[in-house]
Order: sequence, then structure tokens, then C-alpha cells
Amino acid sequence: MDEFTRRDVDVLVLGAGLAGLRAAWAARQADPRARVAVACLGRGPAGSSFANANAMLGIHVPATDREREDFTAQVLRLAAPGFADPALVAVLAQDAAARFAELRDLGLAFRADADGQPARFPSCFSHRTRLALVFTDLAGAYARFRSRCEALGVEFWTGTEVLDILVDNLASPARAAGAMLRTPEGLVAVRARAIVAALGGPAALFARQVTGAGNPGTAHALLARTGAELVNEGYFQFLWSRHPERAFWPAEDLARDGVAVLDEDGFPQDLPADLRALAAERATHCPMGHGLPDAALDRFVLAHTRPDGTTRISDPERGEFPVAAMAHAGNGGARIDASGKTTLDGLYAAGECAGGMHGANRLGGAMVLATQVFGARAGRAAAREAAVAPLAEPGLADELAQDVLLELSAALEPDSGEVVRPITPDLHATVLLGSGPGLDTAHARISARMVFAPTRAARLAAQAALLVTGFLRRARVYAPEADQQAAG
Ligand SMILES: Cc1cc2nc3c(=O)[nH]c(=O)nc-3n(C[C@H](O)[C@H](O)[C@H](O)COP(=O)(O)OP(=O)(O)OC[C@H]3O[C@@H](n4cnc5c(N)ncnc54)[C@H](O)[C@@H]3O)c2cc1C
Repeated sequence: MDEFTRRDVDVLVLGAGLAGLRAAWAARQADPRARVAVACLGRGPAGSSFANANAMLGIHVPATDREREDFTAQVLRLAAPGFADPALVAVLAQDAAARFAELRDLGLAFRADADGQPARFPSCFSHRTRLALVFTDLAGAYARFRSRCEALGVEFWTGTEVLDILVDNLASPARAAGAMLRTPEGLVAVRARAIVAALGGPAALFARQVTGAGNPGTAHALLARTGAELVNEGYFQFLWSRHPERAFWPAEDLARDGVAVLDEDGFPQDLPADLRALAAERATHCPMGHGLPDAALDRFVLAHTRPDGTTRISDPERGEFPVAAMAHAGNGGARIDASGKTTLDGLYAAGECAGGMHGANRLGGAMVLATQVFGARAGRAAAREAAVAPLAEPGLADELAQDVLLELSAALEPDSGEVVRPITPDLHATVLLGSGPGLDTAHARISARMVFAPTRAARLAAQAALLVTGFLRRARVYAPEADQQAAG
């Protein structure tokens, strides 16, 4: 069996996206004597924060009492049929202006208006407000965050894969004890007094996706394995995009004269008249909406999806082309409290792998906001906890590390480093529709892939995908619509 070395830190941050870097910054600022390390796969800009296909990001910033009230009401309204914790939404609104001010001070490249002030844009699902501010140069943003962290004394362990989060289940209550890492120098068992998981979202599990490179999408599996509670883990944002270019395609285009979906035999199918009336509302948000009336328009396109996960569109101006509903970001994750703490002691979560501040649908720009608000809070609280929390006993940490080694050695083949996407193109439409028997079959097929997975990475990815299909089956999220389809 492989050998491993040992390391100890006070605060271990897993992931170097906007959430992880903000957490590490806050942890060192809160306690300049604490040893704070960031472990991440990438060696440079990675993940949805710093390597996404759009090369820009919007942040939603309510800045007055009225705007904060409106923001909170909108987020809670959009949350159905998912779960949102009003206390977390209030925190998001309350801290927004201060976190945005820091991003400006950090020198992020915000688009400016004619007066040189950050320009204000409408957000998805909130088209009447203009509270989104947009920054470009994501690689430059990464460099600025990283140098801020390094100036504060944060250590970076790059090119490092988080294999597992170690949990001391003998403690009462159980608590996170550290992590097992695969570093360029070999396997390392890290003991940490507090951990911040900032491993990003699960959208990379879908074959058709627009996520940033450098994130395998397995955060939810790593978190669920610790016993931490997850919320909304089956809710995603999907963007219709041209395949294979991944360029955004507005579904409301179907209401234009002559634009049609091509059925399996190549015959054009026009958008039915009752769905045309939904096009104006559909145009107010790029991602599909869960539980919103205009989702019927998306279901019309999905009903014509082929086994390769694409639907062919015919447009008199643009010709014929395939589109696919591409996974963009998850809206759920580890349930946290206002300090960023999960339901497991010693474990905090922030960013796309944390949940409860958005529901089934998410206001545009609210995820970047969440990375900053809960990243800062989690980092600060983790540093405070680390000042008093013990390290796990060395013998126990070794035993926990041995369990991971056993799993590695039990795999038929070694991990190749390639991202595994268990939600294959043929399962796309079924998982998206979340409909009865098809979903059960998809769940069963992913379960079989888990059992027969040749590598540990493939097993972990299947485990993460099963959390998605398991959630949808439990929640029967689209049950009324599914019933209608089954009946029709
Ligand atoms: C194209 C696109 C456009 C978007 N636009 C917007 C927008 O305008 N506004 C908005 O609010 N949101 C937007 N989002 C969503 C938003 O960008 C992300 O949700 C957010 O950046 C996630 O930040 P994060 O720090 O949580 O995760 P990420 O930025 O994804 O970072 C995850 C980190 O964890 C590391 N990691 C993951 N797994 C492992 C592992 N096993 N071992 C080691 N390291 C690991 C990764 O390498 C990375 O460093 C967009 C997303 C996409 C894809």
C-alpha cells in the first residue's frame, strides 16, 4: 500500500476559487499567527471563478435599505420549490456592499460607465433592477486575490487533489479532523483544527456543461461522505448553448417567425401558441427556471432532445444547428449557518458547494456575492475556532488516512486525472426533466456505473451524481409536470 506523509495546519482551505481565496484571506486577517493553507487542483486560475467560458462575472450588490429588502424578497420568492434560509439571505444582503467595496479596492476590472463608475446591469430573474456589477479579466482577478493572500502569509499547495475530508467520528460530537491530499510530492494526511470547503459546484458531472476547467464537480460527494447535511443538491442552472461551441442560445428565439425545433425525423415543430406567450418572460433570465411558468418553453425543447443530449434548431436567419441544455452552476450544497459552519463541527463551507442562501432558482450575480460574503465569514469563523480547537490524535489521523489508502488500492485502475462525467448525454434530458420512471432508470444506471467504476475518481463522481438523481427522486421536483407528460 502507498505511503503518506503528515502535515499540520490551523485552517485548511480546500479550493482556490473566489470563495476559497476570500476565506483564506479572512482567516489570516482574523488571526495572523494561524497557519492557513489553501489546497487546490489548479496551479493558476481555475474553476468557474477564474476560468469560466464567459471570461466575466457579475455580482449582485444591493446597497440601500430598500434594495436589501427587495433583494431578500426576490431571493425568497425565487427559492420555491427549493429551500432558502431567510437568515442566510438577510446576511447576503447585509454584507453585500462591504464585500463589493473590497473587490473594488483589490483592483478588479469592473466595467465602467461614462463617469468612470462601475456600470450597473440588470440581473437574470431581476430584469427591472440594475444592481449587477460586472468584472472581466478573471486571470487578473485570480492574481490579485492570490497576492493578497500571499502578502498575508497564506500558504498555497497547488496541483493538489483533495481525496477525502477526514472525520473523527469518535469525538462527541463528531468533528472534521483534516484531509487526505494527493500532492505533486505524494500522498499527504493533513491534520487541521478547522477546515473550509470551497470546492465549487457539481455542474461538471454533466457531459454537457459550461463550467470552468479544474473542478471535477465532486464537492457534494466529499461533503456528504463527512455526514454534513446537504440542501438543494439537485437544483442546477442550465443554459441553452450551441453545441459544441458552448455559445449561449436564447430559448425565447423560438417565438420568432420561422424558428422551430426539428423532431427526430427532421420535421420542424413550431412553438405552440400558448407557449409563445411565455417568450417575453423567458427572456428575463438566461438559465431555465425551476417551477416557473416559462419552464414550459424549455420542456418543449427538451421533449425533442436526442440521445446525444442535443436538440436541433432551424432558424431562417442562422440556419440549422444543435443546442444542448448545458449545466452552468449548482444552487445547493452543504447546509451552513450565518458563520459558514456546516452541520459537522470543525467544517465550514462557502461558495458553490454551500447551500441555503439560494433556493431552486438563483438571482443573477448572487453566487459571486455568496462566495465573498460566506467566504469571508467562514474564513473568519474557522480562524476563531482553530485558536481553541485541538488537532486529532496522530494515531487516529493515521487510521483515517489508511482508510483512504484502502479505497485507492481497491480500485481496479489508478486515477488518470481526467474529469469523469457520469451524467452522460443520453441521461441529460431525463435528469433535467426529473420525471418519474426515466429518472429512476437514470439513477439505476449511475448506480451501476458506481459499482463497476474502474477508478476511485469515477466512483466519487458517480457518488456525486447519485446525490443529484437521489435528490430529484426524493423531491419529485417536477412531479406534476412529469405526471402530465406520462399521461400525455
Ligand atoms: C460560464 C459561467 C458564468 C457564470 N457567471 C456568473 C455570474 O455572472 N454571476 C454569478 O454570481 N455567478 C456566475 N457563475 C457561477 C459562479 O461563477 C460560480 O458559482 C462561482 O465562481 C463558484 O466559486 P467557488 O469558489 O465556489 O468555486 P470555483 O470557482 O469553481 O472553485 C473551485 C475550486 O476548488 C478546486 N477543486 C474542486 N475539487 C477539487 C478537488 N477534489 N481537489 C482539489 N481542488 C479541487 C478547483 O480547482 C477550484 O480551485 C457563472 C458560472 C459559469 C460556469
